[in-house]
Amino acid sequence: MFNTTMDELGRVLIKREIRKQLGLGKGTKLSVSVEDGAVVLRKTEKTCAICKAEIDKDSEIPLCKECIDRVKASK
Ligand SMILES: [Zn+2]
Repeated sequence: MFNTTMDELGRVLIKREIRKQLGLGKGTKLSVSVEDGAVVLRKTEKTCAICKAEIDKDSEIPLCKECIDRVKASK
């Protein structure tokens, strides 16, 4: 655990060692939630819009390969 101070814009510094450990870098998208009075930051994982399976972060279509194939096959 470490202590940090919020600035006037609500920004908080996360120590480099923690960023490294979690693979957080510039542009990493985070989901913010409040749980039991604590602010929780989680890396936003890309999930398929149909089956919620994890998908490639670089994928431009918000669907997994199987769902893309299924959609194509239903046409
Ligand atoms: Zn899917």
